[in-house]
Amino acid sequence: MTFTTDFTYETRPVRVVFRPGAAVTATPDEAARLGLRRLLVISGSRGEPTARMVADALGDACAGLHAEARMHVPADVVDRGVEAARAAGADGCVAVGGGSAIGLGKAIALRTGLPLIAVPSTYSGSEMTPVWGLTEHGAKRTGRDPQVQPRSVVYDPELTLSLPVPLTVTSGINALAHAVEALYAPDTSPLVQLMAEDGTRAMAEALPLLVADPGDLEARSRALYGAWLCGACLGSTTMGLHHKLCHVLGGTFGLPHAETHTVVLPYVLAHNAPAAPEAVTALRRALGAEDVAHALWELGGRLGAPRSLAELGLAEPDVTAAAAQVTAQPYANPRPMTADGVRGVLRAAYEGREPETATA
Ligand code: NAD
Repeated sequence: MTFTTDFTYETRPVRVVFRPGAAVTATPDEAARLGLRRLLVISGSRGEPTARMVADALGDACAGLHAEARMHVPADVVDRGVEAARAAGADGCVAVGGGSAIGLGKAIALRTGLPLIAVPSTYSGSEMTPVWGLTEHGAKRTGRDPQVQPRSVVYDPELTLSLPVPLTVTSGINALAHAVEALYAPDTSPLVQLMAEDGTRAMAEALPLLVADPGDLEARSRALYGAWLCGACLGSTTMGLHHKLCHVLGGTFGLPHAETHTVVLPYVLAHNAPAAPEAVTALRRALGAEDVAHALWELGGRLGAPRSLAELGLAEPDVTAAAAQVTAQPYANPRPMTADGVRGVLRAAYEGREPETATA
């Protein structure tokens, strides 16, 4: 194996607390450490009961509960969130929930400069990144700003016990996608590679256990640990073809986030593998399989995840349209992207057929 001797790695100031029950037992301490006394607790409507638990634990340090987060962070939802924070006189926010709740917390942080504490309840990994997203006039914009990176992340595996099995699987494979693309990113580094490999191992081991028993707290902890590492990889590197494809499929064609990642990943990996031998070696160790693209395809299928973009509602003519959109702008990828190449990946994902790893 060759050793990468040319890299840059930036550590951002984020404190991580990880333990069962931490949402209630650790969040007040994290607020106090940050000197925050008036926190607005943010969640989606489904996550409101959990967010209320956190709000109650904060006691006098809670300035209100705002349960209006929605998927894709619509601009009007952000406007109302900013108003709520101002009206409450908040000096910080606590986002409780998945990528949507954390996304609203980040958008408020971007507009107001208020510090954010994240209490994640899915494996999306958003809590470990300085990336924000916002949907306005039907288009999703994203950007990077250190201001939106949560200062403190409270991982409580007990919160994930209620994640339905299908979302457990797709959210978990969404996390694996961050690790896969971090392994071959142009700005990868030895530390990122360690996190990506162990994050993949942890998640791939935990998911079958969770399908067998969603209440297995040890497996929940292992999966959330994996999600942490995979999220940290996402926050530290530049993503490639896979994330670009999923962004277009979600943003322009309205496909669901975690499911789309789950369907697409094996095909992108099969396509990129010949140009990313070190990534493949790390994934072989993590997945315990020789053909890593096939192993991911088999894992998703065995755990009941959707297999094709057709199943997710993509219309056949959209394969060409999506491929054109993906190739319109340059982006980092280990294998140079051609219109034919992207169309081939998309077509295979559309059909859901067994991935065939390309040869160098
Ligand atoms: P989500 O937050 O919309 O959650 C998906 C669904 O699961 C929702 O209906 C939610 O109510 C429910 N849910 C969440 N936690 C639950 C729990 N513990 N038990 C039961 N139900 C639960 O989606 P997500 O998959 O967590 O995140 C996807 C979103 O996050 C996308 O919009 C994506 O673009 C964004 N994202 C952003 C980044 C970033 O770095 N900015 C990274 C990853 C994802």
